[in-house]
Amino acid sequence: MRTIPVQTRSRAEMVDITAQVRDAVRESDVSSGICVVYCPHTTAAVTINENADPDVARDVLMGLDRLAPRDWPYRHGEGNSDAHLKSTLVGCSERVLVEEGRLVLGTWQAVYFCEFDGPRQRRVYVQVVAGREPSS
Ligand code: ZN
Repeated sequence: MRTIPVQTRSRAEMVDITAQVRDAVRESDVSSGICVVYCPHTTAAVTINENADPDVARDVLMGLDRLAPRDWPYRHGEGNSDAHLKSTLVGCSERVLVEEGRLVLGTWQAVYFCEFDGPRQRRVYVQVVAGREPSS
């Protein structure tokens, strides 16, 4: 397993970690399998979405604000329930297929770390699991 450190810079932010995930796949020496990207935080998440137009990430964050507004009569005393809710909506992990030693991503897809209660020092775990070779 590899750990990717992520330093976020604002309360809500999507950080493109595709290059670091690709490095983890390369270092794993797995040619065919599944890459699991896992976020061990309760107010952050991992997702895959477009990286061509930065407005997409902004719109995703804006839409999540609509779904989980900051000022709502939550009960959790820490004052960051919107961030917990966004973490649950987006999810704490993604899986990407690995073929010929490379991540199988669409042209416009990137792997994002999603910060919902930053800025903080965060981390993401990556594990590449080898698939079974077809028997011939
Ligand atoms: Zn909390």
